[in-house]
Amino acid sequence: MKLTIENLSKTYPNGVQALKNVSFTIGKGMFGLLGPNGAGKSTLMRIIATLTEADSGTVTLGDINVLQDKHAVRKVLGYLPQEFGVYPRVKPPELLNHLAILKGVTNKGERKDLIDALLERVNLQEHRKKAISSFSGGMKQRFGIAQALIGNPQLIIVDEPTAGLDPGERNRFYNLLADIGENVIVILSTHIVQDVKELCSNMAIINRGELLFAGKPGDALHDLNGMIWEKSIDKKEMEHYQTQYQLISNKLVSGRPVIHIYSDTHPGNDFQAVPADLEDVFFSKVLL
Ligand code: ADP
Ligand code: MG
Repeated sequence: MKLTIENLSKTYPNGVQALKNVSFTIGKGMFGLLGPNGAGKSTLMRIIATLTEADSGTVTLGDINVLQDKHAVRKVLGYLPQEFGVYPRVKPPELLNHLAILKGVTNKGERKDLIDALLERVNLQEHRKKAISSFSGGMKQRFGIAQALIGNPQLIIVDEPTAGLDPGERNRFYNLLADIGENVIVILSTHIVQDVKELCSNMAIINRGELLFAGKPGDALHDLNGMIWEKSIDKKEMEHYQTQYQLISNKLVSGRPVIHIYSDTHPGNDFQAVPADLEDVFFSKVLL
């Protein structure tokens, strides 16, 4: 099954053009949709999840016309929204039970087995008696995955699932997603390059509603071969380098800025050529 997005556009009533003629195709496996805040990621996810109307364009999932046949999409979709609230005292089995009924799992015994299997899968069995509202960020997101998996979805959409997780929680979450992504389409939207680096075999970059890249991370890296140059500078020199070069990133290393610039010829001035990494790809697409 493939998800094909063609010439998709969306302008909100306030005039913000959130998607501008976006086209790309997503196959089985983990797909990373990378973009800074405000890029249009959630808008795109919500359109695919049939929660927001597009203005024009088409989206096709296998032979389902996503924008028209919403009911058919919902039957094969698992969706973890960017933010989800829960009632204060609800515990995981209760909420999963409720959501399973909504998804059409009518047999009580079947629901019980399903809930056990899901809690096992996301490693929340030992927390099944606690209120979800008392969960840590990582536990909440794992619960979010459990509910998204009800009904064996063919398409799973997770919108910024790692924002706010600490490194340990993030790692556990990565392992869970990697495990799920083997047989279905998983779209992971994120502004965190590491998410895509560690998980995704295919990716797209969007910014200000526009598609800047779609393909394999390795191809994007290859395109930047020989174009990325690094130098450690003094803080007070930053402005100079910002105006003189195409600066794409700066990191502090032991308190000193280490900058990456984009240049198709040797920039001189003690810059060293370095292999591009995915952050260079992201920032060069978004900034240049
Ligand atoms: P992202 O998820 O990449 O941060 P969004 O899709 O949430 O981006 O937002 C894209 C743009 O659309 C932003 O400029 C945002 O302010 C605007 N936007 C999002 N939702 C709405 C809405 N319901 N009404 C008006 N503008 C919106
Ligand atoms: Mg968003």
